[in-house]
Amino acid sequence: MNTEIVKIDRNNIDKEKISYCAEVIKRGGLVCFPTETVYGLGASAFNAEAVNNVYKAKGRPADNPLIVHISNYEMLELVTDCEGEQRNVLNKLADKFWPGPLTMIAHRDDAVPANVSCGLDTVGIRFPSHPIAQALIEASGVPIAAPSANLSGKPSPTRASHVIEDMMGRVDIIIDGGNCDVGVESTVFDIAGEQMSVLRPGAVTLEQILTVVESADEPDWMKSHGDSDEKPRSPGLKYRHYAPKATVKIYDGEQNLRVKHILNEIEKAKMGGLNCGVLTTDENVRYYENAATVLSLGKESDSLQQASNLFHCLRSFDEMKVDFVFAEAVPSGGAGDAVMNRLYRAAGGNIIRV
Ligand code: AMP
Ligand code: MG
Repeated sequence: MNTEIVKIDRNNIDKEKISYCAEVIKRGGLVCFPTETVYGLGASAFNAEAVNNVYKAKGRPADNPLIVHISNYEMLELVTDCEGEQRNVLNKLADKFWPGPLTMIAHRDDAVPANVSCGLDTVGIRFPSHPIAQALIEASGVPIAAPSANLSGKPSPTRASHVIEDMMGRVDIIIDGGNCDVGVESTVFDIAGEQMSVLRPGAVTLEQILTVVESADEPDWMKSHGDSDEKPRSPGLKYRHYAPKATVKIYDGEQNLRVKHILNEIEKAKMGGLNCGVLTTDENVRYYENAATVLSLGKESDSLQQASNLFHCLRSFDEMKVDFVFAEAVPSGGAGDAVMNRLYRAAGGNIIRV
């Protein structure tokens, strides 16, 4: 497939270019576009065949549902079918957090083909705040079903160059709209289940959600992840994900001990001729500088900065042909939990507490 790259300035949106891309969506094609979280790989949410092609382009397992992106509230009516308390909650959360990085799982309207949700009777919906995403959906006149625009299993794309690397030749258009701000995928919040629940942490935190709804929980994703036979509540969450080619190991615990352990590991790996990387925060770069390739997520106290740099760092380690990445755990709170969640899964659950 011939992939066209269309550059659009988010601060001065070229309407003709947007219409050109929207035509591709309307005729059932695939368009990668920036959102405030990560880049998405979009198709018309009402076109089952186009949706099927999204799974193919990504190599995405058929049991990992897509999120439907809307740009106005009429579209919300078309894709969801919920009333009563679920409707109430949906409205309240939308009022507070949309447009923005919150996906809600609500009852699916039959207008949405089943393959968008892998046959579930629910649908994940989000109203993105990114001006290019909004303009594209609006011009297409249909909601856009989109997972992240990476090859399945790889770190999500937060820059156009990441999308180009993964999706060239697999989609019709890649919109180059600059870097994504948030950098980790949306918070996924289930309002359709018996207990409302955060299925995937993101920039919108449980704490913030609890200012709007009375009761909600966040299952311990370190326990719910992985090889358990239990049916996962959010299908995509069972897969090893966000992973660079390198083996990732996370170190959590007291600062001095962490540094000591990581330096020790580097020493050992180097003797085996392996190329080592360390993922840390600005404050700790100095401990590792002379021993390995060091990348910083940003200030230890700035979880938003860490989120926005995470996937680019993971992809950079690949470019530098690093075999082992030793990552320091980041503090929880704010977007810190989302960062740890992605790191944990990039490491396939390999976390060492010192
Ligand atoms: P991605 O687009 O790659 O960020 O993946 C979207 C994620 O949203 C999936 O992996 C699921 O975890 C979650 N999701 C989307 N739709 C549903 C749904 N109907 N029920 C539960 N989780 C969903
Ligand atoms: Mg994804």
